[in-house]
Amino acid sequence: MIYQRSSALFSAAQKVIPGGVNSPVRAFKAVGGDPIFVKEAKGAYLYDEDGNRLIDYINSWGPMILGHAYPPVVNAVIEKAKKGTSFGMPTQIETKIAELAVSMVPNIDKIRFVNSGTEACMSAVRLARGYTKKDKIIKFAGCYHGHSDSFLIQAGSGAVTFGSPNSPGVTQGTAKDTLLARYNDIEQVERIINLNKGKIACIIVEPVAGNMGCIPPAKGFLEGLRSLCDTHNILLIFDEVMTGFRLAKGGVQELLGVNADIVTFGKVIGGGLPVGAFAARKEIMTYLAPEGPVYQAGTLSGNPLAMAAGLAMLTELNKNEKVFKSLAQKTEYLHKGIAEALHENGVIHTINRIGSMISVHFDKDPVIDFDSAAKGNNDTFKKFFHGMLEHGIYIAPSAFESWFITDALTYDDLDETIAAVHKVAKTL
Ligand code: PMP
Repeated sequence: MIYQRSSALFSAAQKVIPGGVNSPVRAFKAVGGDPIFVKEAKGAYLYDEDGNRLIDYINSWGPMILGHAYPPVVNAVIEKAKKGTSFGMPTQIETKIAELAVSMVPNIDKIRFVNSGTEACMSAVRLARGYTKKDKIIKFAGCYHGHSDSFLIQAGSGAVTFGSPNSPGVTQGTAKDTLLARYNDIEQVERIINLNKGKIACIIVEPVAGNMGCIPPAKGFLEGLRSLCDTHNILLIFDEVMTGFRLAKGGVQELLGVNADIVTFGKVIGGGLPVGAFAARKEIMTYLAPEGPVYQAGTLSGNPLAMAAGLAMLTELNKNEKVFKSLAQKTEYLHKGIAEALHENGVIHTINRIGSMISVHFDKDPVIDFDSAAKGNNDTFKKFFHGMLEHGIYIAPSAFESWFITDALTYDDLDETIAAVHKVAKTL
C-alpha cells in the first residue's frame, strides 16, 4: 500500500503541532514509520488520504462500537447543530441522557457529564477525597486513567509506550499521594492499606484493564478490592472509560457482578464526540457543587452536540442488547482464527480476550499484570503491526493497547483479517 500523501501531511503537521499529533499514541513512534491520515470512515472501514481502505480495529480507541458514521448518531448531531452548538445553560437533553445512563448502569443514582475520560477520572478522585476527607489513592501499575497529574505514575497506554510512565511535570508532592499496586495482586493491596491506615480515600482500577493490552481481572480480584474498601472505609472507583457500555449495557459492574462506589465513563458514552462522565449513589454525588462542597465545572460540559451523539448511541445499545452478545461472538471468532494462524506458524503468543476487547501478546506466559505485559516481544509486535497494515488491517500502533471490536465488522471482514494474520505470521 502507498502512504505518500499521509507522509506529506505528517511532515506539514510536525511543523505546527508537537510531534505532528494531538495525542501521542497516534504517532507511530513505538512501531516506526509515519502515521496514517484518515480522510473519512464508514462502518468498519477507514479510508485514508492516499485512497487506501483499512479494516479498523481501533475504532477511535473505543467509541465507535457500532461502526463509523453510524446514521442515528450522525443524524442526531446534524439536527442538534442546526439549533445552536453551545449555550452554557441547562438543556433537557442532559436530563434525558442522564436518565437513560442511570437506568442502564447498576448501582448509580446520579451522573455528571464532562468532556473526556481524563476529566471524569480526575473529578471522581477529587470527589472521593472530599467525601472521605482523606488524601491518598491507590492505582495499579499499567492502568491508565487519563493524563491528570495523580495518574501519571506508572501509567499504561501511551505513557508507557513513550517511556514516560512517570511524567516530568508531576510534582513529588502529587506523586507521594498516589500509591502503586500490582494489578491482580490483592495481597499487595491489603499490605499497602495496612501501611497507610486511615489515609486512603479511594482505589481506582480499570475493572478490566485495557491499557497494558487487555487483561481481565483474576478470579476474586475485584471482589477482594470491594471487601477491602468496605472494611477500611475506602471508596472503590471503577474506571469504565473503556469498558462502560461496551462489555455489557451496565459495564463491568453488571458483567462481573461487583459494585463500585464511583464509576467513570468516556468513549462509547459520547458516541464519538468528546464526552466523559462520572456517576455514583446519591449520597456521594450530592457532595458535588453546587449541592455540595467539592468543586467541578466545565464551559462545554453537557454540550448539546455531544449529548445528542451520546443519547443516540446509548438509545441504540439499550434497545438492542443483543449487540453485546454479537460483539463477543465476533471477538471469539477472531481470537480462534488468529490463534490458529499464529500457532500453525510457530509464533509464540498469548491472547487475552473478554467481550469485545482482545489483545495479542508475543510471549508464551500468561499476561496478568504490567510486568508480564511488558515482557512481550516488541520486535515481533512491530513486524506484526506493519505486516497487518500492508494487508489493509489497522490495529493499534502499540503492544500496550487493546483492540476494540465494532459490531459493523462482518464475518467476511473477520475472515479477511484472519487470512492476513496467516500471511503475516509466516514473516515473524
Ligand atoms: N481511563 C481509561 C481506562 C482510558 O482507557 C482512557 C483513555 N484511553 C482514559 C481514562 C482517558 O480518557 P480520555 O482520553 O478521554 O481523556
